[in-house]
Amino acid sequence: MKAAAFDYIKPTVLAQALSLLAEAGDDGQLIAGGQTLLATLNMRLSEPGILIDISGINELKGISLVGNQLRIGALVTHTEIEDSELVAKHAPLLKAAAPHIAHRAIRNLGTWGGSLAYGDPAAEWPACSLALNATMIIVGPGGERRISAQDFFIDLYTTSLEPDEILLATEIPIADKNQVFYFHELARRHGDYAIAGLAAVAQKQGDVISDCALTFFSVASTPLMALKTQTLVNGKVLTPEVIASAVVAARAEIDAIADITNSVETKQHLIGVLLERGLKHLAA
Ligand SMILES: Cc1cc2nc3c(=O)[nH]c(=O)nc-3n(C[C@H](O)[C@H](O)[C@H](O)COP(=O)(O)OP(=O)(O)OC[C@H]3O[C@@H](n4cnc5c(N)ncnc54)[C@H](O)[C@@H]3O)c2cc1C
Repeated sequence: MKAAAFDYIKPTVLAQALSLLAEAGDDGQLIAGGQTLLATLNMRLSEPGILIDISGINELKGISLVGNQLRIGALVTHTEIEDSELVAKHAPLLKAAAPHIAHRAIRNLGTWGGSLAYGDPAAEWPACSLALNATMIIVGPGGERRISAQDFFIDLYTTSLEPDEILLATEIPIADKNQVFYFHELARRHGDYAIAGLAAVAQKQGDVISDCALTFFSVASTPLMALKTQTLVNGKVLTPEVIASAVVAARAEIDAIADITNSVETKQHLIGVLLERGLKHLAA
């Protein structure tokens, strides 16, 4: 299929993009890397009257350190994250996750902000941003607002972004020397969306784990933190007994939903498999 006809405009500054978006109302849609949107346009799942291409706006670009936060602009591509020394040093979970996103050609175009704004529960960045306690920086007609990743992902493909708002950047607290992390996903083939995945971050002093964030993705309508399981492992040494109880707890607390090819039972089984591997990795 081919996309329905639409107007196209490419503003060069953020203020212009915001006023175009406000003017267009429900008829306007932003495009960044186009790696999700072009497919939905071609399938006519989305039929905007005007496409506002934000890919030339410098205010949305770049990775930088701001105090003790790593700031990632919405237009930063998956490849830039994968190759960034700042990311490798200050948010190593993201470097570990990046190669799991599709293939390099898609990662060269797809953006951090596009992935977060789209809110796909099977995507890597929403889960990582939740595990890393990220803050989303959003601009709209009323100015700038900030919201935590925990409050940003609301439901299937639904975030707290309003139609007249643009995701500007994200800030992530930088990793300290005690931070340990684990990222893994189970997919049919490398580059496919995950059947189930886990992004985990914790503090480790000696053998004791604390401040654990266990975020599962591709198992529910949003990425989900296993809050009860986190409480169970915090303050403990990850012995085989603790890991076994954590696996039981995570399977019980995550309300998995089936997808087109995988049942709830498969998802719940994989949640346990991922958690066992993840906690063993954090313990090692
Ligand atoms: C074959 C294939 C395989 C893929 N596999 C994976 C995968 O394994 N994992 C994964 O995570 N992704 C995967 N993707 C999707 C890819 O990562 C996309 O790049 C990403 O989801 C969206 O980023 P984008 O810049 O391309 O956004 P676009 O497609 O341009 O936009 C997506 C949506 O976000 C909105 N948007 C974009 N930027 C902003 C912003 N700054 N503020 C507000 N709204 C905005 C747009 O209006 C649109 O609704 C795959 C894509 C393809 C084609």
